[in-house]
Amino acid sequence: MKLDHGVLKSLPKVLLHEHLDGVLRPKTVITLARNARYDRLPTEDPEELARWFHQGANQGSLPKYLEGFAHTIAVMQSEEALERVAYEQAEDLSRDGVVYFETRFAPIFHTREGLSHQQVVSAVLKGLERGQKDFGISSGLLICAMRNMEVSLEMAELAVDFRERGVVGFDLAGEEGGYPPKKHVDAFHYIQRKNFNITIHAGEGFGKESIWQAIQYCGAHRIGHGTRLIDDIAVADGKAVKLGDLAQYVLDKRIPLEICLISNVHTGAARSLSEHPFKIFYQEKFRVTLNTDNRLMSDTTMTKEFEAARDTFGLSLEDFEKMTINAMKSAFLPYDQRCDLIYSVIKPGYAKVRNTQAMK
Ligand SMILES: [Zn+2]
Repeated sequence: MKLDHGVLKSLPKVLLHEHLDGVLRPKTVITLARNARYDRLPTEDPEELARWFHQGANQGSLPKYLEGFAHTIAVMQSEEALERVAYEQAEDLSRDGVVYFETRFAPIFHTREGLSHQQVVSAVLKGLERGQKDFGISSGLLICAMRNMEVSLEMAELAVDFRERGVVGFDLAGEEGGYPPKKHVDAFHYIQRKNFNITIHAGEGFGKESIWQAIQYCGAHRIGHGTRLIDDIAVADGKAVKLGDLAQYVLDKRIPLEICLISNVHTGAARSLSEHPFKIFYQEKFRVTLNTDNRLMSDTTMTKEFEAARDTFGLSLEDFEKMTINAMKSAFLPYDQRCDLIYSVIKPGYAKVRNTQAMK
């Protein structure tokens, strides 16, 4: 079966790892900057601005990749702006065939104009709710603490406070080198005591120790990226020959890896798509999911990530269906809602594409 762009776009998709401040439409960045009287954008031409973000991101370095966020964060300092960005995220993803997504951000960065953390989170949730109503796309919000800051416990409390209103979990983000997750162990223990959900960025810019700490010190239920888990796998001729203790644990416990192919090449976490350890993870039956990370900075979409996986690793329709179901199983939604999306939306969606293709 030919899995062209149109077919991949029409497939139901699930996205677990995307940053709210990394998905703004270039035009929206410009409008919001004008509203906020922010005059530091490199250009006011949407196409040029899009290019500026992509070029800045694609330099093989995580600190450089993060520079573009100075602008997106600067224009997201009002409730209107936050709500709009969340709403447009729902709209853009639904147009790309995404049926469920989790978006994440660090409220601490959005209080410069006097908003409280509660106001910031409420505004984003309002945008997501409106998006669900208008486009029928389900979503959940993750609250990020930052590795280099000391407010992780406060952010963990904030996440739990909003669990009845659409926050589905807690994350630790930011530069990995020099900021191990175990420094934030109080915040994670708080989340655990509240029976809440944890995902942690780990093994993107830093080695497998970061993944080990995220799981064994902090109780991560999912790993953001996890690229460097390959350092715990002996590989010969493109095949895994022996798994270390950590890799075996991640495999056995079915700990989901939120893989971001294109972003990993941009930040230098992988040298190229063909050298990305995704292939080994998939062959060895790790629970891998495909994600965008930052559509604006990495000039990507879920359909483009699927295309990259099709072209580089030869994934078939069955592979995409399996991975999408695995992503839905790994979502931080209650079990019955996950089942409902799998059996009422994802499986029928794939069956429909298969039937249409068979009739051609
Ligand atoms: Zn990320």
